[in-house]
Amino acid sequence: MTEWKVPYQEFRTIHSAIRPELEAAWKRVMDRDWFILGEEDRAFEQAFAAYSGAKYCVGVGNGLDALRLILLARGIGPGDEVLVPANTFIASVLAISYVGAVPVLVDPDPETALMTPEGAEKRITPRTKAIMPVHLYGRIAEMEGFEALARAHGLMLVEDAAQAHGATRNGRRAGALGDAAGFSFYPGKNLGALGDAGCVTTDNPELAERVRSLANYGSTQKYHHDEVGVNSRLDELQAALLLAKLPHLEEWVAERRRIAALYEAGLRNPKIRLLKKDAGNGYHIFPVLTDRRDALLSRLEDLGIHAQVHYPIPVHLQKAYRDLGYRRGDFPAAEKLAETEISLPLYPGMREEQIQYVLDVLNRF
Ligand SMILES: *Cc1c(COP(=O)(O)O)cnc(C)c1O
Repeated sequence: MTEWKVPYQEFRTIHSAIRPELEAAWKRVMDRDWFILGEEDRAFEQAFAAYSGAKYCVGVGNGLDALRLILLARGIGPGDEVLVPANTFIASVLAISYVGAVPVLVDPDPETALMTPEGAEKRITPRTKAIMPVHLYGRIAEMEGFEALARAHGLMLVEDAAQAHGATRNGRRAGALGDAAGFSFYPGKNLGALGDAGCVTTDNPELAERVRSLANYGSTQKYHHDEVGVNSRLDELQAALLLAKLPHLEEWVAERRRIAALYEAGLRNPKIRLLKKDAGNGYHIFPVLTDRRDALLSRLEDLGIHAQVHYPIPVHLQKAYRDLGYRRGDFPAAEKLAETEISLPLYPGMREEQIQYVLDVLNRF
């Protein structure tokens, strides 16, 4: 295994800084002797709803389930279509497939890598039931435009906010900008559990209750099952750890922004481009674009810098989605991003000399 001079990310620094808080959380759960659907879950849900500006938060097992349960709770299923960007992590699209609906892909704006309301509008049909903008890389999609579009066509508006903890648009945080939002607390996200976790945020009390019931075997009263649900709950241990980490999220996002500003100011190589500047960016991922992607990736690797690609294969070219019938060339912007994108290392605790080293290697390329 390579010993990276600059790892893609690491959690050690932030976890050791708050280790007493994490240990206290873990002990509290052990001492209480209660592990599923309890006080930690409720406390975290309240704290995260307050943070995101939504009225309700429901903890679930992971980000994919958050999105899937939102669609299920609204009764979206076979025969329905949901609009989603062609350049997203596969989970956005799997959520749609799992409820039996058809994902209809939309090519993103090449300057922002985000689906736009104009792009989405062209793909609306009489079967369209929902739009799922993805706040990719920590950049919030144009939600005012999407809201107008959703209202005009009677569609549900679902934020895939899995990469957008702490990101803002016009002063408002992700999670309260549509009918509902799905978050992931996978360890690598801006707010990460020490395992799998996720949540749904919404202002709609019926939707929140329906998600809560569906996530708990379709039950609101023990052993009474009103509908066919699943098992996808935020466990007490992860909830307690997330509750301990949440008060630090703002400082971690601020640090991400500081590192990103250093990258943006220091990058001086015409062969390497940036996406359009976004003031509310939460910088979950820091993408750069280059036509010599593979050469740059191997240069970085040779010099001990662990960069990644998000994502090398757009959804329409994935084997799992052959049946959608799309071909190479159908989504040129998504394909171009898949061919040119590199994500630079960026994490709270990254040292000044590591950032400088990455910049030196990029500028000499
Ligand atoms: C991580 C992620 C998800 C899925 O979250 P999991 O907790 O891993 O299931 C969904 N959408 C996007 C855009 C993601 O980055």
